[in-house]
Amino acid sequence: MQDSIGSRMGIPCLILPTMENPRYAYDERRSQYECRALLERLKASSPGDGLGVLGVTQVDLFLPVLKYVFGLSEIGGRAAVISTYRLRPEFYEQAEDPELLLERLEKTAVHEVGHLMGLTHCRDPHCVMHSSTLIEHTDSKLASLCPTCLELLRWELRQRLGKTSLKRLSNKSTGG
Ligand SMILES: [Zn+2]
Ligand SMILES: [Zn+2]
Repeated sequence: MQDSIGSRMGIPCLILPTMENPRYAYDERRSQYECRALLERLKASSPGDGLGVLGVTQVDLFLPVLKYVFGLSEIGGRAAVISTYRLRPEFYEQAEDPELLLERLEKTAVHEVGHLMGLTHCRDPHCVMHSSTLIEHTDSKLASLCPTCLELLRWELRQRLGKTSLKRLSNKSTGG
């Protein structure tokens, strides 16, 4: 994931220490974790010298209006989070497949970091910025940005790096 964000987006990543288990976000009625609470916690602990922070968790994430999310990002903000929970083939009663899981994680991470850098959804179904509401959408797109999104990303990065001398994107893991 660290390599993908570096090579596909040109954003250097730093891996930060593992965070606490996100019990504070647990919703008993749904047996899931409320995504925005994780984002707030990530934002609060985000080091000041990065472009943003990406949390990676194993817990099942939701938003009040949605059954589940693969990840969530503040568009143009400071924090994003993704979950492995619904990316694992086992979740869909398929055999374990570490390579497929990694591929899905890579696409989800690049997608959410794209949002973090200010990109919105792309209509090109092969572009990593195409919306994924089902795992099939994730599987049918590529891990890379289409030429238009790549150009937009470069523009966004120039804006951000122009305002600040900060050039690192931090990558943070949540526990649990
Ligand atoms: Zn999205
Ligand atoms: Zn695109």
